[in-house]
Amino acid sequence: MPTADRISLNTATVREQWSLAECIEGCQRHGIGGIAPWRDKLHEMGTAQAAKAIRAAGLEVSGLCRGGWYTAEGALTQGVRDDNRRAVDEAAEIGAACLVMVVGGLAEGSRDLAGARAVVEEGLADTLDYARAAGVKVAIEPLHPMYAADRACVNTMGQALDICDRLGHGIGVACDAYHVWWDPELKRQMLRAGPERLLAWHICDWLVPTRDLLTDRGMMGDGVIDLPLLASWAAEAGFEGLHEVEIFSALDWWTRDPDEVLATIVERGATVC
Ligand code: ZN
Repeated sequence: MPTADRISLNTATVREQWSLAECIEGCQRHGIGGIAPWRDKLHEMGTAQAAKAIRAAGLEVSGLCRGGWYTAEGALTQGVRDDNRRAVDEAAEIGAACLVMVVGGLAEGSRDLAGARAVVEEGLADTLDYARAAGVKVAIEPLHPMYAADRACVNTMGQALDICDRLGHGIGVACDAYHVWWDPELKRQMLRAGPERLLAWHICDWLVPTRDLLTDRGMMGDGVIDLPLLASWAAEAGFEGLHEVEIFSALDWWTRDPDEVLATIVERGATVC
């Protein structure tokens, strides 16, 4: 069970209520040890300013969300390559443990899933070259298959690690319990990743029923994922990073007082994770 100082706040969890500056202050108030900003919040505050504030607050940065989206314009364009390079620079500037990649789904109007996956791999190779030089780790986040069309066509840990095998060092996976909890291969693939490639551990819960495909994720303990079991696999794999709490919740947690959200995160961290 992670104590508050082993928890990281992904800013998506309170994205409707707080700016990045408010998230940093909130983490300090609640004794939370880390933060994982989304780029929109980072840009709003200014990367240099944010880096300074995060350091001053003594927070670890468990990741920067997110790069990727390689299929946004069909083929891999210079615009997409450049945006990912900027994301790498931002991750370096804030000292992020990794740059989290949501790789993109099918191009608009396309049915070519294999083609999309090829574009993604080409894009990841391009970003990885740049990231290695910058000393930034690239973390592929496999998304639940229900997002294969519109968000990410990398959908399992095994698929992500096969890409990592082909691309070599400096790339690994961001393992998000919400996306992979159902996978019968999960434990085996987490162990396969090992400490070198298991770069992030994202947590929330799977609600039954799930009322919205994107924005109805649950607070840890409110759903059906055996988080302590999965966390034990991450530990067994050698992962020593923070438990990053990432909850998209339009119907519930985004409507609450963010201090209540953070207090609940700390309490659930100590009891159900
Ligand atoms: Zn995630």
